[in-house]
Amino acid sequence: MATDCIAVDIAALKLKVIAMPPIRPFRRCILSLLLFTAAARVGAQENAPSAATTASPNPSMQPSKQRIALAVHGGAGTIDPAQMTPELEKEYRAGLERALKVAYEILQRGGSSLDATEAALRLLEDDPHFNAGKGAVFTSAGTNELDASIMDGKTLKAGAVASVRRVKNPISLARLVMEKSPHVMLDGAGAEAFAKEQRIELVDPKYFFTQQRWDALQTVKEAAKGGGGGKQYVISDKDVHGTVGAVALDQAGNLAAATSTGGMTNKRPGRIGDSPVIGAGTYANNATCAISATGDGEYFIRAVVAHQVSALIEYRGLSLDAAAAAAIKNVGELGGTGGLIALDRNGHIAMPFNTNGMYRGQVDPTGKFIIDIYK
Ligand code: ASP
Repeated sequence: MATDCIAVDIAALKLKVIAMPPIRPFRRCILSLLLFTAAARVGAQENAPSAATTASPNPSMQPSKQRIALAVHGGAGTIDPAQMTPELEKEYRAGLERALKVAYEILQRGGSSLDATEAALRLLEDDPHFNAGKGAVFTSAGTNELDASIMDGKTLKAGAVASVRRVKNPISLARLVMEKSPHVMLDGAGAEAFAKEQRIELVDPKYFFTQQRWDALQTVKEAAKGGGGGKQYVISDKDVHGTVGAVALDQAGNLAAATSTGGMTNKRPGRIGDSPVIGAGTYANNATCAISATGDGEYFIRAVVAHQVSALIEYRGLSLDAAAAAAIKNVGELGGTGGLIALDRNGHIAMPFNTNGMYRGQVDPTGKFIIDIYK
């Protein structure tokens, strides 16, 4: 072969072309072999980790692990510190902490953000302190009508149920609507027939009764009549609002949002608020953020709050904080009160509200649970 040069592929595919003097073929072969061995040794040394890199690896060489993140809320409103005994406050905090814990464990194990948000909300629905599931507020007819929704930020699939009266955990039914039906929202009798088909737990409507919510209904009704024989009715938002929600980011980088509520005390039967309306009370999109809202549902629907936050990030390039604050400002300008929890794909959390309090909790980047009620 009349080759005057050889190409040596060093371990990391670096191509080195070495000029060869005109020598006899046998010597050329020996020289080639020597050069190849030397080059291979250099290449191997280049690729072998040094003592220093073994001790402290270059983070850019590590497979990147997505940061998990999580936030929950238990409703926003005028939370009167005078009505809040230390025991009651402890119970609210414990409820939020339980929800954070169960959801965070799911995320740490590599579970999905959908599983985490659903699990958090099931616990909050079972907790009578919150206006969702057991402990839901009453309609003007003395019934409980529950709304819930969930959204997957990866696929933009969503599921919702409205005005259900016998479903113990409406959030799980909303997830089944998303995963096991071609629809996004089912209401009333149709939703309950679907619940039966899916073998989801149904309960007697009496299950949802709590004395506190029943008393709140009587107070709100009396106040609405303007009666009460001169008695002053103090209607705290705690009596009217509630609602629970969760947003999560899992190890695969997927966002999810979920919201569940009994609605508003003394609402007309059949009234549906923002919580089950995708884009109003709940929204998730991996490209932007996950949102769960709470407050005067009619205003949150009109301001399309949850999608508004996402759109401000996507189309106006706003930060999560700025977008979430703008959406709540918008609700306030329309005359509504409430708040939201927001989480973006980088794990940033924002929790604006225009009331004096919002039951809320999050897990900070070190894994610490932070629970707050007031501003
Ligand atoms: N947004 C809920 C609704 O209007 C109530 C709340 O969050 O307090 O049904």
